[in-house]
Amino acid sequence: MGASWLHGACNENPLAPLICRLGLTLYRTSGDDSVLYDHDLESCTLFDMDGHQVPQKMVIEVGETFKKILKETENVRIEHHDDMSVLQAISIVLDRHPELRQEGLSNEVLQWYICRMESWFVVDADMISLKSWDQEHILSGGQRLMIQGYDLIIKTLSKDLNIHLNHRVTNISYGCKKVVVTVEGERNFVADAAIITVPIGILKANLIESNMIPASMRELCELLILITVVYCSIHLCTFSYFNINFYVHFIPKMN
Ligand SMILES: Cc1cc2nc3c(=O)[nH]c(=O)nc-3n(C[C@H](O)[C@H](O)[C@H](O)COP(=O)(O)OP(=O)(O)OC[C@H]3O[C@@H](n4cnc5c(N)ncnc54)[C@H](O)[C@@H]3O)c2cc1C
Repeated sequence: MGASWLHGACNENPLAPLICRLGLTLYRTSGDDSVLYDHDLESCTLFDMDGHQVPQKMVIEVGETFKKILKETENVRIEHHDDMSVLQAISIVLDRHPELRQEGLSNEVLQWYICRMESWFVVDADMISLKSWDQEHILSGGQRLMIQGYDLIIKTLSKDLNIHLNHRVTNISYGCKKVVVTVEGERNFVADAAIITVPIGILKANLIESNMIPASMRELCELLILITVVYCSIHLCTFSYFNINFYVHFIPKMN
């Protein structure tokens, strides 16, 4: 199962006009508050460990409390020069504001909200940076699910392009205003310019030699950690689908 979501259904998103032109069917799964709510509450129902449905009113109220807690963590961020985890900041906020603490089922719902945040960043809350978690530029328009996936988009974009699959690049060198890309088997491709879009993990592992990648960028790669996560969700709403994603995400290391 591959990519199916359009993150940010707005004109600013360069994929939006193409999707419109292809007439692909999109389903709205969430509004603008994407980091905290990748799926709107109306499209999911919570159940406790005994299989009893959690009242939607409680889910909404605890959601509001969670927002207040996060708002309070902004003060913690201002007060502390050094970075800390979101989890640590939440704990400070709950010490200061006992009225925001939740008990019993409400507390389980609060933990679920924290889990949703963790699933967005694909790390535990004790690894999410308080200073950076909300610094990402997120396109407006919320999330839309393309029922046919990205397949048709890839096919349209790649039409008439000369694509060489199964060519593992081993070296990229620049000199005399030409780029030489060497693949396994020592075959060379020569061009005026090259756009290198291999994942950072490839650069970090030095799998491609190149005089085009500045030392500063290699050092930057060292600051990033690579995480492989299995993300699993079951949704039973207006339509049913079972979605298992294997995500590889990069996040800044915390000090
Ligand atoms: C299961 C899954 C579901 C996802 N769902 C969504 C979604 O719904 N919506 C969304 O917007 N995003 C989704 N994503 C994220 C999205 O797929 C990635 O953000 C996107 O593919 C990144 O594109 P990229 O070109 O940077 O890297 P990649 O797509 O990883 O492309 C890098 C390419 O470099 C190639 N490569 C590596 N080393 C070499 C080498 N030495 N020589 C030649 N080639 C090399 C790799 O084979 C690969 O083809 C999903 C990701 C996963 C894993």
